[in-house]
Amino acid sequence: MSYAEIIVDISHENVDRPFTYRIPEELQPLITLGSKVEIPFGKGNRIITGYVVGFAEQTNYEESRIKDIISLCDKSVSPEEKLIGIASFIREKYGATMITALKTVLPVKKATKAQEHKSVVAIKEEGELKQAALIAKSKSQRAKARLLFALCENPRIDYALVTGKLNVSAQTVLSLRKQGMLEIETQRKYRNPIGFRELTPQKLQLSKKQQLIVDEIEKDYREGTPGNYLIHGITGSGKTEVYMELIAKRLEQGQQAIFLIPEISLTYQNVVRFYRRFGDKVSIMHSRLSAGERFDQFERARKGEVSIMIGPRSALFTPFSNTGIIIIDEEHEGTYKSETMPKYHAREVAEEMAKRAGAALVLGSATPSLESYGKAQRGEYRLFTLKERLTGGSLANVNIVDLREELKAGNKSIFSRKLKELMEDRLEKGEQMMLFLNRRGYSGFVSCRDCGEVIKCPHCDVSLSEHNRGQRLVCHYCGYEQAAVKSCPSCGSNKVAGFKAGTQQIEEALHKQFPMAVVLRMDADTTKHKEDYETILSKFANREADILLGTQMIVKGHDFPGVTLMGILAADLSLSDNDFRSAERTFQLLTQAAGRAGRDKLPGEVVIQTYQPEHYAIVRAAEQNYEAFYEEELVYREFMLYPPAANMMAVQLSGANEQAVEQLGQRLASEVKEMRFDTNPAQIGPAKANLSKKNDLYRQVIYYKHKDYEELVRIKDRMEECIRLWDIKRENVQFDFNPMNTF
Ligand code: ADP
Ligand code: ZN
Ligand code: ZN
Repeated sequence: MSYAEIIVDISHENVDRPFTYRIPEELQPLITLGSKVEIPFGKGNRIITGYVVGFAEQTNYEESRIKDIISLCDKSVSPEEKLIGIASFIREKYGATMITALKTVLPVKKATKAQEHKSVVAIKEEGELKQAALIAKSKSQRAKARLLFALCENPRIDYALVTGKLNVSAQTVLSLRKQGMLEIETQRKYRNPIGFRELTPQKLQLSKKQQLIVDEIEKDYREGTPGNYLIHGITGSGKTEVYMELIAKRLEQGQQAIFLIPEISLTYQNVVRFYRRFGDKVSIMHSRLSAGERFDQFERARKGEVSIMIGPRSALFTPFSNTGIIIIDEEHEGTYKSETMPKYHAREVAEEMAKRAGAALVLGSATPSLESYGKAQRGEYRLFTLKERLTGGSLANVNIVDLREELKAGNKSIFSRKLKELMEDRLEKGEQMMLFLNRRGYSGFVSCRDCGEVIKCPHCDVSLSEHNRGQRLVCHYCGYEQAAVKSCPSCGSNKVAGFKAGTQQIEEALHKQFPMAVVLRMDADTTKHKEDYETILSKFANREADILLGTQMIVKGHDFPGVTLMGILAADLSLSDNDFRSAERTFQLLTQAAGRAGRDKLPGEVVIQTYQPEHYAIVRAAEQNYEAFYEEELVYREFMLYPPAANMMAVQLSGANEQAVEQLGQRLASEVKEMRFDTNPAQIGPAKANLSKKNDLYRQVIYYKHKDYEELVRIKDRMEECIRLWDIKRENVQFDFNPMNTF
């Protein structure tokens, strides 16, 4: 091969195409698809890096104008051909430059220095060693003798032990090596983030329903047609057991498995089951691993030393040689969608990867996304349902409390009369409870009781939140912080106060109402450090507290057999999110929360406090009736042309100059008006974004809706072209297909 097609490491539309370079002869045997290379670029021949994405024998360019590749960056990780294919799929489907797409599928960019494990190994028989040892001793070569005697007992000793505990110098070791007594062995040691090994394999006898799922999927493999599957099963219905069995079957066939799980569910409790069953074939990836640890995990996967990768979104790009199955647990979770460019959805990318690899894609959830359940209804995914809990314990009894009635009855407290009564009962019996505040922010905003002015961040168009018991005001978007204000900046009134609804305030209310109760609080404030999250969970699991109070974090998949009461304090707070997915999110959260109580033998009670007791998301969650919720929600989406009834693309614009951002939005929108469509897309905007200013950048958004995804891709392509032609540099434009959150 004489020429290479190279994507340069500059993220700009202008250079977002492969450039042709000549491969010097000495590099020809070394360069492969995906190699990272150094190249001269541009008029000044600045040296930059790029990735090889293709080869050619000939080129249409004039020979004299083609430049040579300078060198191969040997520290780079060469992405496999497959991943380059996925990168271009991502680039095409979600919009981004090829280099950002490549960086997405290659989360590990640089090899870090590997830890090496050295040992001293005897290469002579025990008899000879002993003889040599005695000779050394007679010559007063004590260190030599010590090491030789030690090797008689143990023919392989850690090098660190030799120089440490045995106090033998490196020189002495070398001289014994010269003498032909021993060898020094160096093995590359891969850092394993989990430090235990000696676990007994555990395998349960699958129930009939579980076995059926495994058998059916296995049958498809045998027929050469593994496809896409959705397991709709309540928490505790045995999905994880099914996943493990499916993985075991693939491993038997010499294949590997990728298991995605939301980062928040990546707890010891969940992972230890995999270690028990599969030992150190398992590797884990999470965002807290250091770059080096992450590299090691990928390296082990590449070399075939591990066969199962567990992790969040990015684990999808594990460079296994023969992935046989991709499993996505809690597939409805919003975190599977990337929030940075390219804004890809792991479920969609996994589907494409599975298709290309001839692997199965297995999704699981107690509350499937509308997208996946819709596909199952249309037969694109095969649906399996698990309805019973395997550990016994019945579904909890759910009470809906109308907060308007509470107010009418003169109860102004955060706790309804029903909830208070049940809490007192639990405290008396020594049973545990959880209180869930359905709120994405953590604490209340501050406003003036006289004129209504809300204290806002000077850099973002959002209200500041109270922290440190009202002493500080913090912006959750940019981190801006200031001291609490004493008087209203607008009217001067001193009646400024926080709107009491955060977890901190509830904790205070709990201390007042139930002074004897031990309360643990879990929210973004109390889980700032690495271990906080696990610490709180294990304290609660050890029954060191009566009440666990928290945000969403507390409802995501933890088993606390002692919990017999779940209080949902303001169920409808997430309904007012101003977002087409808010009913779905509310339903999912409430269903999950309701599933937390009464997991064991003791009967559970759930109290849902709400101002909208008749809202279908709340009614259906209380009934734990997924199918009915799905039907009602789909009618709404179809009526409004929201995903999955149609496809939607958000064009997100931002920039420091408010007018320029507005103008760019209008210019782009009028370009689209010039395009021809069989059916015109619905257009909303350009308009101010929901969060109209963030970090001093003004934000505008345009929405396009169309039944046909490809038509939206055409709009995106046209816009990308315009941005290049118009040489837009100051404003930033991003695309978000079927967004999870409003911009
Ligand atoms: P899910 O993933 O749906 O929440 P799990 O697989 O974690 O469900 O199973 C819930 C509980 O039931 C676990 O404690 C698990 O050990 C147990 N379990 C699962 N399958 C079986 C089975 N076939 N026999 C007995 N216990 C089971
Ligand atoms: Zn005021
Ligand atoms: Zn801010």
